[in-house]
Amino acid sequence: MSEIPYFITLEEALEICNQTQIHTTIERVDLDESHGRILATDLPSLVNDPPFDNSSMDGYAMRFEDTQDAPSTLEIIGTIQAAGQSDNLVVGQGQAVRIMTGAPMPKGADSILQIELTSSDGKTVTLQQPSMKHFVRKKGENLEEGQISLYSGTHLTPSKVGLCATMGHKSVAVVKKLKVAIISTGDELKQPGEKLNHGEIYESNSFGLAGLIKWLGHEPIRMHSVGDSLEGLRNVLNEASETCDLILTSGGVSMGEWDLVRKIMEEEGDVHFWRIKIRPGSPPLFGVWNNTPLFGLPGNPVSSHVVFRMLVAPWIRNTTQATGPTEQRAVAKLATKVKSSEDCLTFRRVSIEVTNKGLIAHQKIHQGSGNIASMALSDALVMLQPGQQYSIGDLVDIIFF
Ligand code: AMP
Ligand code: MG
Repeated sequence: MSEIPYFITLEEALEICNQTQIHTTIERVDLDESHGRILATDLPSLVNDPPFDNSSMDGYAMRFEDTQDAPSTLEIIGTIQAAGQSDNLVVGQGQAVRIMTGAPMPKGADSILQIELTSSDGKTVTLQQPSMKHFVRKKGENLEEGQISLYSGTHLTPSKVGLCATMGHKSVAVVKKLKVAIISTGDELKQPGEKLNHGEIYESNSFGLAGLIKWLGHEPIRMHSVGDSLEGLRNVLNEASETCDLILTSGGVSMGEWDLVRKIMEEEGDVHFWRIKIRPGSPPLFGVWNNTPLFGLPGNPVSSHVVFRMLVAPWIRNTTQATGPTEQRAVAKLATKVKSSEDCLTFRRVSIEVTNKGLIAHQKIHQGSGNIASMALSDALVMLQPGQQYSIGDLVDIIFF
């Protein structure tokens, strides 16, 4: 045990984790299936966006020079509501075409005036003011054909999936989802819905961790939880390593005699480090079981969540070469006294108030690492540097979750 790195910083831990990598593969999925996935290639646009000059307003199209002496009255020579209808129309001097938003500009016209600033008797239109050239959306002004706007590693958010479609892609190459086994350990754990006997609690970590895996674009496999038995643990770890790419356990990694994940990993697996200098969440270990990377996360619900966000998620992004998703970071002013720690990077759960003087961080909820409500009902983590004191009014780094 002596040569295994022990109680190291978060950065050191991440560096060690990054030396172990998963071989990822690529698959092609239809856009409908691409939400939340990680793009696996750079994506060039197959078309210009927009593909043709068009109107950004419902109104009239005309020659700008005919409208400078407003009010001006022009002859209406036709209507363009959609593609195809502009083909035979040429706007000459003193003429205008009725046009709808998104419809192609007729030849000869270089400007638009929105309908609200016009009046019409059906044959002519009178403009209250000069027309505007910037209401014409120019071909390729958003994206030129061949231009790359999404890069490999991008997390596909709804607007990015929309961008894929705009660029003409019907399907995209994405990183194949990692299968991530989640194993809860502890004799005291019961499934929600079951009756609790004295001394028992509901197993909650696997549900939260499954959501975090999905957030990263991968596939959680919630295995049945195991009691504190080496035999049961060995069986489920073997099953997980045969069917999954990565194993997350929760519980059983502290100093106690019944902390069997630590024990079995030390005796039968391969531990790369144990314990990190963060609070909450100092107990985790990382290693390999049967060729499968394994994070032994703490049992306390807040701890397992924080360790996932600060250690597991960055490693998964690293091994899949993903640039997202990541939490948004910001700076906030402390409204409550918060407690840092001498040797650990400390994360407190805070509510964030948005004011015209910036963000204000309030610590409202009891901060026990067993109190998942302190995560669930807060907005962000404040990140407190080891050995540093913080007072009300200080600016602190925050991480939204
Ligand atoms: P352990 O690390 O196994 O000693 O667990 C630390 C604390 O977390 C104990 O209070 C456990 O009951 C609790 N705990 C462990 N696993 C879970 C879980 N899956 N869901 C909720 N609480 C848990
Ligand atoms: Mg336990």
